[in-house]
Amino acid sequence: MSVLPFDQRDGFIWMNGALVEWKDAKLHVLSHGLHYGSCVFEGERAYGGRIFKSREHSERLKKSAELLDFEIPYTVEELDAAKDLVVAKNGLTNCYVRPVAWRGSEMMAISAQHATINVAIAVWDWPSMFDIATKMKGIRLDIAEYRRPDPACAPCASKAAGLYMICTISKHRAERRGYADAMMLDWQGRVAECTGANILFVKDGEIHTPIADCFLNGITRQTVIGLAKANGIKVNERRIMPEELEGFDECFICGTGAEVTPVSEIGPYRFTPGAISRTLIEAYTREVEPTEDAVSADISL
Ligand code: PMP
Repeated sequence: MSVLPFDQRDGFIWMNGALVEWKDAKLHVLSHGLHYGSCVFEGERAYGGRIFKSREHSERLKKSAELLDFEIPYTVEELDAAKDLVVAKNGLTNCYVRPVAWRGSEMMAISAQHATINVAIAVWDWPSMFDIATKMKGIRLDIAEYRRPDPACAPCASKAAGLYMICTISKHRAERRGYADAMMLDWQGRVAECTGANILFVKDGEIHTPIADCFLNGITRQTVIGLAKANGIKVNERRIMPEELEGFDECFICGTGAEVTPVSEIGPYRFTPGAISRTLIEAYTREVEPTEDAVSADISL
């Protein structure tokens, strides 16, 4: 791959309260977060220089850490300001924003009660794919072998690095089999989500989507459900078994990275991206764009 590795780029990364040169944003190989998975992160997007739902993401980051029994030593307001600073300092307007927090090197065993908590924020260029014609072709999904764990077995409301182990394995297997991604079932065999996005279906003009009781209730998912309701589309959050996929008309996934992306195939099941997917792609595109007021307010600062 000719893409410049992420540790070799230029720019600035915010690390533990200060901006540092991109290449100097390092951690030691003996870090608790690396060995024991005590690490949480966020994935956000800025549109026109404004981070979409920045506060909600900062709140989720703090909550994710709490669920892993550590506290991020910055307030939501401080995190929001730091993210804005990194976006501006790197001269980006449409980009991806990656805050990450992890336990450091003071203790290297299961117990790490006194390890320091580190926080870094990086941003990089990642254009959104708002070419609606391409999107409407839909992506193809495999069905993953791994399932989302029982909430009794993992802190599943945390966006914790450790919970992505089964996502990477599942995504690799899907890619090897020629699919874009994999849909995961949950520990009870119900439809859950994809490896990095939530999933929704359409039947007879209504949306059906799994209850987010053992996987991330995505900020995009919540936004899209709100947009659907505002557009007069009924949303049913309920238990969905995989056999039911046979009877659904449309399917789409949503997440900060995926935005709203229609699906044409999941294993043996077929869908035709249609009016509701299109309506929600358009509504989401409008929703994330900063308003004229917001942009001019920023400029006048
Ligand atoms: N599920 C998983 C496993 C994810 O990684 C993501 C992306 N953060 C989502 C759902 C969607 O979350 P959001 O809409 O908040 O990006």
